[in-house]
This record gives sequence, C-alpha cells and structure tokens, in this order.
Amino acid sequence: MIPFNKPHLTGKEAHYLYQAVSSGKLSGNGFFTRKVQEAFCTRYAFLKTLLTTSCTDALEMTAILANIQPGDEVIMPSYTFVSTANAFVLRGAVIRFIDSLSSHPNMDHNSIEELISPKTKAIVAMHYAGVACDMDPIMQLAGKHGLIVIEDAAQSIDSYYNARPLGGIGHLAAFSFHETKNVISGEGGMLVVNDIRFTERAEIIWEKGTNRSAFFRGEVDKYGWVDVGSSFLPSEIVASFLFAQMEEIDDIQTRRISLWNRYYEGLHELAQNGHIELPFIPSWATNNGHLFYIVCGDACQRDRLIEYLRNREIQAVFHYLPLHDSKFFKARHDGRPLPMTEKYSHNLLRLPLYYDLSSDEQDKVIETVKSFYLELTRA
Ligand SMILES: *Cc1c(COP(=O)(O)O)cnc(C)c1O
Repeated sequence: MIPFNKPHLTGKEAHYLYQAVSSGKLSGNGFFTRKVQEAFCTRYAFLKTLLTTSCTDALEMTAILANIQPGDEVIMPSYTFVSTANAFVLRGAVIRFIDSLSSHPNMDHNSIEELISPKTKAIVAMHYAGVACDMDPIMQLAGKHGLIVIEDAAQSIDSYYNARPLGGIGHLAAFSFHETKNVISGEGGMLVVNDIRFTERAEIIWEKGTNRSAFFRGEVDKYGWVDVGSSFLPSEIVASFLFAQMEEIDDIQTRRISLWNRYYEGLHELAQNGHIELPFIPSWATNNGHLFYIVCGDACQRDRLIEYLRNREIQAVFHYLPLHDSKFFKARHDGRPLPMTEKYSHNLLRLPLYYDLSSDEQDKVIETVKSFYLELTRA
C-alpha cells in the first residue's frame, strides 16, 4: 500500500530527544524551545515566535490576542480546517465565511469588503497547500477598516508572497508541526507575532496568564496572575524533536518540491486534455511542496478515482468539507451560496506526497491516475 502520508525522520531526533531528557529539564520554554523559536526568527525575520502544542492552540491564542468578544465578526474561508473557525467560535465570534477563488481553493479576497461591518474585528487568511493568498489587498483592507489579519499558515512553512515569508505578513500567524505537515513534531504548532502591540501579552497568555517569562528574564521580581491565559507551551521533548527537523528543512523542502514538480509534469497531459485541473500557483506565490492535488471533473469521478486508486494499493484522499455547510454551522450560516468552496470540496483529490515516497512509487501513482482516465475515455 502506498499511504497518503508517512512521517519523515531526519535522523537526529533521537539524539536531541536524549539530550533534552538527560538535561533534567523537561517542561516547556527551555533550551530547545528557545533554539527553535530563534531559528524561525532568524530564518524568516519574524518579530516573535512562541512554540505551542498545536496550530489549533496558536490560533486560539490569536483569537485571545485579537480580543474577540461575543458577537464580534471574523471573516475567513469556508474551505479550511475546523480549527481556523473553532478558535474564534470559542470566544463567541460570528463567522462570516468567504468563497474560494475559481482558480484556487484560497479565499476570494475580492469578496471580503462587502462582508465588513462595524462588528468586524479580524480577517483570517489561510494559505491552502502553502500557496499564498494575495496579501497586499487584504492588508490594505484591514488597514482601512482597522482590522487584525491572522494568517493560518499551518501549511505554509518556507513559502513566500512576493519574496516575503508567509506567517510574517499578517499581525499574527499560526503554524502547524502535525505529522502531516512538512516539518513535524507529532503534534505541535507555533504562534508568530509580527506586531509589537501583541508581543508582551502573547507571552503572558502562553504562560497561563502569568508574567513568568518576564520573571525568568529578571524583568520583574515576582510573577503572578496578570491576564487570561492557558497552558499553550509544549514540553522540551516536543521542542527537541522539532529542532532536529528544522535543522534539515532545506533538505526536506528540496525533496518535497521535486516530488511535487514530478507529479505536475507527469499529469500535465491529463490537464491539457481537459480531464483534470492541476494546481495553480499565482505569480505572487511560491510552492512549498506541502501537498499535491488535482481537481477532477465532478464529485462522482473524484470518488471513483479514489476507489480505483485504493483497489490498486494507493491511498488518495479528498479534503475539506465546507465549514459553512457543516452540521455544527449550517444553521448559523447567513445563507450565501459558496459555489467554489463546494467545487473544491466535491472535486479535489490529494495524492500521496511525503519525503520517503520513491520514484517507483510515484510513477505507479501517476500511471494509475492516467490509466483511470484512459479507461474513462474508452468507456
Ligand atoms: C493542519 C492544519 C491546522 C491544524 O493544525 P494542528 O497543529 O493539527 O492543530 C489548522 N489549519 C490548517 C489550514 C491546517 O492545515
């Protein structure tokens, strides 16, 4: 069976894990936590980074930092993971969902402004497949209306928008190191703060609402409860694993991008013949090899292709079910149809893409997709 995903180990994880365990300090905000946070700040010029136990946690921190109150409105795509929305729903926000672009699953930035009301507090931009949303118009709109922009950069490590690293453009951003992402720690995430207004409070929320971090830096002589907060920081065990991954990020990215390009070339003919759509990378965006998807002609074809691949020992998967139409949200939705979200939900298929996928295995995936369409045209 060629699985959809296989977590990749760089080889140094056990070494750093051992180092963390034998150091005698296992809780969070220690040596490896700081090493990883610094590595991100150095590589991407982020103002401040805080490791979290998941991207979901980091998103929840952004909702607290944005001071979301019950009834406040937050604009975001419907075609995204539940955590993008849940983080704000937990604070009582009203979610206004945006449709996807016709050319890409990313949200259509041109339909944001019509949803802005006096209650709007924030816009959440999710970069699907690590491909940047058009951030300049989004940031301009936010500036004009005094809104906070949060990047759900869960899939966006080492990807760029007009040469600027994703996660470094919005006021706040959240990354994921879940085992399905490019750089992993099993479960894990990171908050990025790009606006100095939020740096101090972010640290307090991260440390259970206390000024413990400032205390350890010697800035205050005792620490206590100063704000709301929770236990968002991961242990050194997680951070040491992540450090091993970050050391090899260039190698990971090179491999994933080359696999991505090989799929693109191998399936190009099917797109030319009009059977499928291949991923579109806008001129402002880079490709970080996070995931490779194809868009099938319709839902029935997509589901049959999944089954066809499964019968040939290949695991391919669909992606998001539209949040605006979910069991939880349906009755809360304002009723606007979001046809492009439905299109990607019905027709999009993700192919296996992971560091250790061999050329032979990838050839098998490409040939099997091609033979499905060959049989379809013959039938
Ligand atoms: C993976 C993912 C998340 C959640 O990440 P966790 O680290 O599992 O919490 C959130 N948003 C998007 C877009 C994702 O792809």
